[in-house]
Amino acid sequence: PLVLGIETSCDETGIGIVRGTRLLSNTIASSMDEHARYGGVVPEVAARAHLDELVPAITAAVAEAGIRLDDVDAIAVTSGPGLSGALMVGVGAAKALALALNKPIYAVNHLVGHVGADLLRTGTDDAEEPLEYPTIALLVSGGHTSLLLVRDLTSDVELLGETIDDAAGEAFDKVARVLGMPYPGGPHIDAAALTGDPGAIRFPRGLSKQKDMAQHRYDFSFSGLKTSVARWVEQHEDAGQPVPINDVAASFREAVVDILLTKAVAACVAYDVPRLLLGGGVIANRRLREVAAERADAAGIVLRIPPLSLCTDNGAMIAALGAQLIMAGHEPSSLDFGADSTLPVSEIQV
Ligand code: ATP
Ligand code: MG
Ligand code: FE
Repeated sequence: PLVLGIETSCDETGIGIVRGTRLLSNTIASSMDEHARYGGVVPEVAARAHLDELVPAITAAVAEAGIRLDDVDAIAVTSGPGLSGALMVGVGAAKALALALNKPIYAVNHLVGHVGADLLRTGTDDAEEPLEYPTIALLVSGGHTSLLLVRDLTSDVELLGETIDDAAGEAFDKVARVLGMPYPGGPHIDAAALTGDPGAIRFPRGLSKQKDMAQHRYDFSFSGLKTSVARWVEQHEDAGQPVPINDVAASFREAVVDILLTKAVAACVAYDVPRLLLGGGVIANRRLREVAAERADAAGIVLRIPPLSLCTDNGAMIAALGAQLIMAGHEPSSLDFGADSTLPVSEIQV
């Protein structure tokens, strides 16, 4: 099926068009520049930007895919989780489009969409094997840090753990601020860490003790780590000592990567699922990709990392999930659904 996907859960206005698992277009406009001066995504600003960007994004995606809007078989849209106001813009647009074109609509879960991103093929990599289930999925972004057990993309997704405080991307952004770097800070920490010593400072790894994993606790915590970095920097400044920014960045990054992958690999082992899929904007982190490859290799786990343009928020992954739902025989959503900022991951379709 030919599906147009709409994603507006955070700062990206994403429109994607897929035919089954084939990616036809993926247009992304981000309002990140507008949030930079506030040091974080401002919900009202994001919602407002979606209103401005949606129509041009749809026009561009349709043109790039080489289709007519009327050709689509269905509309898919993120109904949650995410920022309420931002979600509402996408949901409203999707309903209007579905009504105007008289097409079915599939209201889907944003996090499950991140997993669906792995299915997409661009045409040059047809030989690549499709994702096998069950798989463990680790999703890390500015708003989420979630560990999922995906038994079936369209019918069975279980939350194993999530952050109890800051998301991993948020921790990167907050620590970057402490180190005087601009927002979003993840890429700046990554760059600074390149010439730093990851073993210079041993920062705490919250909730990562063996006993936490033994009790099947896969929740994450990053706020203690962030506070610890801030205190370390403050103490050095107060004592008039120079702060080795590159060492702090590298040591902090090492701690985050260690926490994330210790839990993800432990879940693969505990559930006897030798497959790990990564998603979310923090996957851009070079050290995270490196250590993921090492540890997966050592544990006999098949590692899947979609291209970065499909790891960050986008409409194509939402369209891909919609297409999977159609192919699995699911009924369309009824038009009375709304935006649900706290939609649980087990609710794949609303
Ligand atoms: P979501 O709704 O999925 O949470 P988001 O907009 O908050 O979306 P993304 O756009 O997927 O998140 O990712 C942005 C986050 O990723 C920011 O917190 C940013 O600092 C972080 N990030 C980007 N590149 C890197 C990197 N190289 N290393 C670490 N963090 C990074
Ligand atoms: Mg974003
Ligand atoms: Fe996301």
